[in-house]
Amino acid sequence: MSDSSFKPTRIVVVGAGAVGSTTAYTLLLRGQASEIVLVDVNRERAHGDALDMSQGLPFISRTRVWAGDYSDCKDADIIIVSAGVGQKSGETRQDLLRRNVRVIEQIVENITKYTTDAILLIATNPVDVLSYYAFKQSGWKASRVIGSGTLLDSARLRYLTGRHLQVDPRSVHAHIVGEHGDTELAIWSRTNIAGVPVELSDEDKQAIFHDVKDSAYQIIQAKGATYYAIALALDRICAAILRDESAVLNVSTLVDDYHGISDVYIGLPCIIDHEGIREIIDLKPTPEELAGLKHSASELRKRIDSVM
Ligand code: NAD
Repeated sequence: MSDSSFKPTRIVVVGAGAVGSTTAYTLLLRGQASEIVLVDVNRERAHGDALDMSQGLPFISRTRVWAGDYSDCKDADIIIVSAGVGQKSGETRQDLLRRNVRVIEQIVENITKYTTDAILLIATNPVDVLSYYAFKQSGWKASRVIGSGTLLDSARLRYLTGRHLQVDPRSVHAHIVGEHGDTELAIWSRTNIAGVPVELSDEDKQAIFHDVKDSAYQIIQAKGATYYAIALALDRICAAILRDESAVLNVSTLVDDYHGISDVYIGLPCIIDHEGIREIIDLKPTPEELAGLKHSASELRKRIDSVM
């Protein structure tokens, strides 16, 4: 007998390019939602991806996948935004930022016509600036507008530290905080395995952190884009929300007097549950780490001011 109160879990992915389509596929493999909708200006490509994924359904979970439009946001639990425009030759980072701000503006305007109670998960870069912009434009509670922030960077730090120490990265607790980008920093004072602080020389720390920051460049140079690890990171955030996990993940969120830092979206460890971000964890950074975080926040503030 069918249950009329059953409400399918729906995730909409806006921007089904490399990141968006890989994220949809990852969500599908993990059985994260009963409905996955792909929305893209290139509707034909989204349709092709949806068809391709649907034809694998006999081998995995029962999920409906289709290429839709913004009206599908009406019943969405989570809306992931991974739409973006690439850098044109000769274009400055600032011009690219302005163009991606317009993309986010248009997308948020369309989404908010159909829903006010989903969770918005932004991945488009520069993710901290665009998450702040989406928060302001949507008028939604900050807890419901989340940037993927430094979750991917923290995963890279855990992977590289684990590889160096020959420990499973899942057992390494390590945090990259700040901007997802140039001014991010590692909170080495809190890096631990089984609660025991890791002992690494300054040279090893520098080499690992350099590799973390260089990862995206290395991958882009090799194959043009990064998408597998970010897809897993987005999938992890969706799981924390949909399963009401209260998991601690390093995402980009609005801060209000976090050690004197306010009114920017910035990557920090947050407790994530069904409502979105419940709480920011105080990492109690050392004075040196706090100075780095404040520097990162002031650079983000400058970039926000340059577009708002
Ligand atoms: P891509 O070019 O492969 O895909 C972008 C997609 O967005 C395209 O399919 C395009 O048609 C679509 N699009 C453009 N404008 C749109 C609009 N107005 N509405 C709907 N769809 C639109 O790019 P990608 O490699 O998938 O990267 C997407 C974004 O994700 C970039 O900004 C990239 O920097 C970012 N990214 C973020 C992280 C992270 O850690 N946050 C990691 C990797 C990539």
